[in-house]
Amino acid sequence: MNFRIGHGYDIHRLVPGRPLILGGVTMAHSLGLDGHSDADVLVHALMDALLGALALGDIGHHFPPEDPCWRGANSLVLLQKVSALVREKGWRVVNVDTVLVAERPRLGPHIPAMAANIATHMGIKPEQVGVKATTNEKLGPEGREEGISCSAVALLVQHQDPDGCHAP
Ligand code: MG
Repeated sequence: MNFRIGHGYDIHRLVPGRPLILGGVTMAHSLGLDGHSDADVLVHALMDALLGALALGDIGHHFPPEDPCWRGANSLVLLQKVSALVREKGWRVVNVDTVLVAERPRLGPHIPAMAANIATHMGIKPEQVGVKATTNEKLGPEGREEGISCSAVALLVQHQDPDGCHAP
């Protein structure tokens, strides 16, 4: 069987006057993530992992920030498009795993909802979606609450070989 692994990373700045949306879940917090789209750093890292696994560039290439089309975009809808592209290319997702780094708010209680949103928009099961959260022990930009970052990995398997025959 042919496998591919991809890695993604993203960070967004925390600012007042923006909603905090992670994994499609809007959280009550005094600060939100700044960005051109909804700034969902979890979904952005995940999309880059999926695209990276197939060497298809990054989300900036597929959804250019200068394109007004993506202003305020719901990142889960973009994730749905990236997942469709993965399937079109002949691959399916074995699993994805992610780590959010945020000092506040407490993300643990939101993990099941974030994983469920991601699974729904990727067309996979919640058991295939790892979402973890950690603080940065008050170190660095995440620790100083200047931003929230996320890293992600994705494992893909080719469901057919290039001439359409199942692998032995
Ligand atoms: Mg981003």
